[in-house]
Amino acid sequence: MIQQFITDAKRGNIDLVEHASKALESAHAINKEYRYIAAWADPVARAEQLQQLAKTGNARGKLFGVIISVKDNLCVQGVESTASSAILKGYKPLYNATAVQRCLDEGAIILGKTVQDEFGFGGFSINTGTGIEKPLNPLDKKRTCGGSSGGAAGLTKKAPFPHLALAESTGGSIANPASFCGAVGLTPTFGRVSRYGLIDYANSLDKIGSMALTVEDAALLLDAISGPDPHDSTSANAPTDPLTDIPRAIHGLRIGIPQDSFPETMDNTTRRVLMLALQQLEQNGARRLDIKLPISTKYGLAAYYTLAMSEASTNLAKYCGIRYGASEALSGNYNDYFSRVRDNHLGEEAKRRVLLGTFARMAGYRDAFYTKAAQARTKIIQEYQAVFKDVDVIVTPTMPLVAPTFDELKNLTPLQHYQMDVLTVPPNLAGLPHITIPIGEAHGMPVGLMITAPHFHEHKMIQVAKSYDKK
Ligand code: GLN
Repeated sequence: MIQQFITDAKRGNIDLVEHASKALESAHAINKEYRYIAAWADPVARAEQLQQLAKTGNARGKLFGVIISVKDNLCVQGVESTASSAILKGYKPLYNATAVQRCLDEGAIILGKTVQDEFGFGGFSINTGTGIEKPLNPLDKKRTCGGSSGGAAGLTKKAPFPHLALAESTGGSIANPASFCGAVGLTPTFGRVSRYGLIDYANSLDKIGSMALTVEDAALLLDAISGPDPHDSTSANAPTDPLTDIPRAIHGLRIGIPQDSFPETMDNTTRRVLMLALQQLEQNGARRLDIKLPISTKYGLAAYYTLAMSEASTNLAKYCGIRYGASEALSGNYNDYFSRVRDNHLGEEAKRRVLLGTFARMAGYRDAFYTKAAQARTKIIQEYQAVFKDVDVIVTPTMPLVAPTFDELKNLTPLQHYQMDVLTVPPNLAGLPHITIPIGEAHGMPVGLMITAPHFHEHKMIQVAKSYDKK
């Protein structure tokens, strides 16, 4: 647990400079093999500052001395931040994202930026932008880390030093890679964490959260970055109770299991691991109730991809080679110019999403697609609200399978890739907090269990996750 490390660091019992140098060295070695980090910060220089504070008795902060990695779509001052897209190559932000700044204010050390699917477009970290190598699963290099926060999850599992990861989810990008790599992934309620300084994918869906090896550690990081921010008018002014030191007893807690959460495609070994985990929660005192979420199951994926792509297509419009992003030698008319810039610097999946998203919100089609999807989202939120009258949390598998191999993924269509998000998309669409925890293995790979709570009830799902967490 990282808490002990922080206490020791504050007391000056740890040589932070030596610690940061060693961590940097081992992170470089891991990176050579697994490709988790796209750009490096200067952890040793930062450790020197903190060491000085500890020496003079001025060590403060919830994350004092802790090394954190930052998903590439979060701005870190002076460190290249591209959301793993070639179109933003060379961009060094002049400011820190609020979540990053809050970590620094709490005494954290930034290691670097973790690789992701370009702008978050994907679930396997195979859609990294041109020239950016794909990260490999820490437990089997033939397999994906999941995505889009693949680098964050891989590093969380592999780092031999105390480490926390700042990650981000639009439709499952924290839960998916955390479960494929055997880490804990915590996605908060939409609005709990400020999005200021995030390179947007879809503004109404993006949520910044945390990854760690234990539930308590993931909660510690989320706790540090939560709360309203004048820079983001969609950050909520809701009460944010502390998320650390939550008790692990769950006696009498009502756990809802949706009828359709074990898809037919799920193999028996994975199913068995999940069933055992559910039994364990019951043995820990939880009360199990069967529930139904028919609207989410039927319309969740379609509504999510329609809305996410629509928003993405407007967000990407600014990268036209004039004010933002890569540029080219000027020639031809405006349309030729910006098409050439985008053609040369956006990956295939980004182009697909720009085309589909633009189509879905075009005059003439908007009512049939974009508006319909927005209506479906409202219905899905209402469906969850009704279910949460009867249960405290909802428990499902995180993914319908263990991390696939790169070869397996090659044989699937984009639509089949999207379908693998069937379980993570609904809570994301409804802006609900959810946590994934590793519960065992199938075929030698980790299996994740996902716990979803009502809006701003993160403490409930953390409680359930902790009752399971053995660490
Ligand atoms: N796989 C989903 C998508 O491609 C979710 C990605 C995310 O949360 N950034 O949109």
